[in-house]
Amino acid sequence: MAPTSANHLPRYYPMSEKSVVRYSNLEEQVSKELKWFYVRYMNNARYLYVDSNYYGIVWPNLILFVVMHLFYFYGLYMVLRIWPVGGMVFCICYGEIAGLGVTTGAHRLWTHRSYEATLPLRIFLCMCHTMAGQNDLYTWVRDHRLHHKFSETDADPHNSLRGMFFAHVGWLLTRKHPDVMIKGRTIDMSDVINDPVVRFQRRFYVPLYIFFRFFIPTYLPMRYMNATFSQAFIGLFGTYLGSLHCTWFVNSLAHWWGTKEYNVKIKPRNNFFVSYITLGEGFHNFHHTFPWDYTIGEFVWQFNPGQKFIEFWAKIGLAKNLKRATPEQVKNRLENARKIKDQNRLLYENDHPYKFPHDY
Ligand SMILES: [Zn+2]
Ligand SMILES: [Zn+2]
Repeated sequence: MAPTSANHLPRYYPMSEKSVVRYSNLEEQVSKELKWFYVRYMNNARYLYVDSNYYGIVWPNLILFVVMHLFYFYGLYMVLRIWPVGGMVFCICYGEIAGLGVTTGAHRLWTHRSYEATLPLRIFLCMCHTMAGQNDLYTWVRDHRLHHKFSETDADPHNSLRGMFFAHVGWLLTRKHPDVMIKGRTIDMSDVINDPVVRFQRRFYVPLYIFFRFFIPTYLPMRYMNATFSQAFIGLFGTYLGSLHCTWFVNSLAHWWGTKEYNVKIKPRNNFFVSYITLGEGFHNFHHTFPWDYTIGEFVWQFNPGQKFIEFWAKIGLAKNLKRATPEQVKNRLENARKIKDQNRLLYENDHPYKFPHDY
């Protein structure tokens, strides 16, 4: 039965004075406004209808990830049960060193060029990045530059509008959207591929990956910590999956939960929890606003070991040209964001039909 009164309409039904005047009868008004509602809101739900040509599951990846997680949970259980102190210390240290390669290397150095590093430091960071096992540097940087340039669109490899699970790990389990490939070709990667360290890692990635990701974390505890092969091997999965999930939380949690002090019009947020588990990568609203800033955060009290490491390297002459957003740039952004928040609050308080509380 067709609705006879506006009470039947959805919560966000745009009942403006104009629309009441424009339509001659209620039925026409309802049909047009419902159509408008559908286009405006239901379009965001288009990914619910999975097109198998574009979004099909990559079964080998899915099976691999399920098996790795089974190993991971079993590994964690065994580490805690039979090798609690040495195992945990080793897993955390190995994971943190690998994390340095991802945050201060792949992310802040190679992707955003927020500072310059000497050859020895680049080799060290490249080694750390290989320990993390997150694909080679070239692929990592291309995906992340794509994420910044086409954030929250189909060309974003882990587009968070497709849901938190997709942004976290789902993007690695499904086929890439065609836009990721098409627009991926527009990303300038010349500076990255001209780096001999990146070229070397890309060329020998498989043996390097096996050596740094599997051999070393199994051999070291056996040689120096009296661990058995099974203890060391299963402990290795504790470091691997743990560090992967920490990195993925930046794409999922830091795009969904947190505050937006610098730019309310984008989805990334500042999230303390993510900062604690990623050496300071959680201030994602700041980072997407000022991607060239090596600190990824404005304040010294923010948990940001990555920043301290870069500053230490600069002190001993291994890094230089550390880039930061100027205080004026930060102030302007803060003021703009505050203005928009005030406007949104006004709309919200007046129960405006076009309110978007999530942009608050
Ligand atoms: Zn992001
Ligand atoms: Zn970034």
